[in-house]
Amino acid sequence: MGNNKYKILIVEDDHNIASFIQAILEANGYQVLTAERCRQGLLVFSSHMPDLVVLDLGLPDMDGEEFIRQARLSSTVPILVLSARTDESDKVSALDLGANDYITKPFGTAELLARVRAALRVNRHNVHAAAPSSQFAVDDLLIDYDRRQVSVAGSRVHLTQTEYNILAFLSQHTGKVMTYSAIIRAIWGSMDDGSIKKLQVNMANIRKKLGCRPGDNRYVTNELGVGYRMLDE
Ligand code: CA
Repeated sequence: MGNNKYKILIVEDDHNIASFIQAILEANGYQVLTAERCRQGLLVFSSHMPDLVVLDLGLPDMDGEEFIRQARLSSTVPILVLSARTDESDKVSALDLGANDYITKPFGTAELLARVRAALRVNRHNVHAAAPSSQFAVDDLLIDYDRRQVSVAGSRVHLTQTEYNILAFLSQHTGKVMTYSAIIRAIWGSMDDGSIKKLQVNMANIRKKLGCRPGDNRYVTNELGVGYRMLDE
């Protein structure tokens, strides 16, 4: 299947869910390691250096967030968070701690595999991050970082400084969900009551200028109540 070079660690105490994920991943050629507890997961993580971690947030011994905190001390490995909770704040804090993406239970096979592939691509980009490109391209969108210019299908798009900064920031974190607060801190430095609204207004203007109609997620997806994600293909 060609995926067998990738080693994926599943940290999940619910045996049914863990087996379900393991079966899907193995059927698609991934090599799978499992742990049912957070501490055990961290041990397997440091001894086996997986290419991706699928992490449940509600673990019996420690919160999954603690796994992210400790893993991020030494590693940029993509972490895909599983959350049974529909509470946005759990996803947001996991993402702000350094998780790459999340899946809300229950989820289907296609969604899981798509998220896994996307997260593994993010890591491949990181490997090449030492030689930063002066351009970014996805679909027919082109960002020229040196000139601070954006074009769609060869036509120049006129963005304000703030709009450009937001788009450039997202393009440097493709495939990863960037939370409202992460974007706001990067663009404006700090957060206040009106920040999210201000960001949403800027995003709406960016999308309009890029030629996206409402609901058109060609370049940037709107992760409702959480943040935005720039696509990488
Ligand atoms: Ca659990």
